[in-house]
Amino acid sequence: MADLFIDGEWTGTAAGGRREVINPFDGSVIRSVDEADATDADRAVRAARHAFDSADWAYTPTRRRADILYRVHELLLRDTEEIARTETQDTGKTLTEARTDVADVAAAFRYFAEIADKDAGRVVDAGPDVLSRVVHEPVGVCVLIAPWNYPLLQASWKVAPALAAGNTFVLKPSEITPLSTIMMVRLIEEAGAPRGVANLVLGSGATVGAALTAHPEADLVSFTGGLATGRAIMASAASGVRTTALELGGKNPNVIFADADFDAAVDHTLEASFLHQGQVCSAGSRLLVQDSLHDRFVTALAARADRIRLGDGRDPDTESGPLSSAEHRAKVEAYIELGRSEGARLVTGGHRPDDPGLSRGFFLLPTVFADCDRTMRIVQEEVFGPVVTVERFRTEDEAVALANDTRYGLAAAVWTGDASRAQRVANRLRHGTVWINDFHPYLPQAEWGGFGQSGVGRELGPTGLREYQETKHIYQNLRPAPSGWFKG
Ligand code: NAP
Repeated sequence: MADLFIDGEWTGTAAGGRREVINPFDGSVIRSVDEADATDADRAVRAARHAFDSADWAYTPTRRRADILYRVHELLLRDTEEIARTETQDTGKTLTEARTDVADVAAAFRYFAEIADKDAGRVVDAGPDVLSRVVHEPVGVCVLIAPWNYPLLQASWKVAPALAAGNTFVLKPSEITPLSTIMMVRLIEEAGAPRGVANLVLGSGATVGAALTAHPEADLVSFTGGLATGRAIMASAASGVRTTALELGGKNPNVIFADADFDAAVDHTLEASFLHQGQVCSAGSRLLVQDSLHDRFVTALAARADRIRLGDGRDPDTESGPLSSAEHRAKVEAYIELGRSEGARLVTGGHRPDDPGLSRGFFLLPTVFADCDRTMRIVQEEVFGPVVTVERFRTEDEAVALANDTRYGLAAAVWTGDASRAQRVANRLRHGTVWINDFHPYLPQAEWGGFGQSGVGRELGPTGLREYQETKHIYQNLRPAPSGWFKG
């Protein structure tokens, strides 16, 4: 079965390229997929261009587009189990988490269906002889690039608003996790998206991704991934002055005051640090604990980290799976060595599990480093693995200063029993999302994105739709007459 979807047809690649998709639990090949090249990328962008310029889709009544999104939502619910099992095999995450992801993907489609026709622009008061309207229109051809940690979820935050707004798109998932995305595009086809509106190409970032993001016919690039790639995409978009939205990494502070609910804070800190092996852009990988609570908190956290059951994501007893690939594990291991050499104290973890049943997978033990400080690279750089660093603070001011001492600014959390302090600290944190006495929840209705080098733009919420719209001012003189500006 062909895996690229271009101009309404499932098709192979021009050059016949293939790639094996690997199960990170045991290194086995799940299946091979078509591997596109720059020629296929060009074909897909031109198909999206043609579909947009033929204008039927862009001028389809918004309600009709919303109906397609509602249908995708229903189809995702129908196929949840199959998609979740595929996502688990492809990413290594647990089935429970993959099911939650599919539910969240469906919710994103429903949300953008709901808000698609809620803002028809506005009429501007310019006097009785003028009709002046500000309207929102689709941007055009959108290139959408998604990462491997939440392959389907991150793609849906782009695809759903792009369709709701009347754009056409070319989507490229990560080369290592393309399988659930193929399923989603099949559902978009089944839901009735017209020919050429939705296009899918698979292939490496270096070839296909770069060809798509630099394509002169692309009007917008929306990218979720790492900082270095984001910089390269922004630079390549500059030549075409293309709208560029970037959802990049994070090094997210999780601030625990001594008056926090101890059990809740430890429990959520475990999840903040080690959910999906810490391969979460908003992972609470930088833990800040008030001095008087520090030792007790770190001891409890390490004890719970040691009890996390690693295994096959399909096994209901598994609490955490492997890292996504051998290459990525090697990168995380290099950071663990760096942490040691910088003088951080390894409290637990720091190596691969001894269990022979896990030896073929890309596993690492949950790792806690204490005695860290803000000057260390392990504290400042995104590790994107099951590694949490711990720093101490004494005062509220010090906690805020440390939490804001980062080039990133995606998410942060504050744990305290003092309601006033919670609000004061939340107000001062320079991060796109701040949780109080919680970690990780996000809502499709609420904007998601980063301050600083965590990105440009926002996904979800009304702003997440606006990213895919141009704004136009239409001015009509209702009483045309000579202006008399020039006298001759
Ligand atoms: P990545 O290496 O930057 O790759 C992301 C996507 O970009 C993949 O599809 C990749 O393709 C593609 N790509 C790579 N080089 C490219 C290029 N030169 N031009 C165009 N596309 C290119 O990131 P990742 O390792 O997959 O994802 C992890 C990163 O994503 C972390 O930093 C994480 O924090 C971030 N993230 C952010 C958010 C958020 O909401 N802010 C959410 C999730 C993840 P291939 O993989 O096929 O090479």
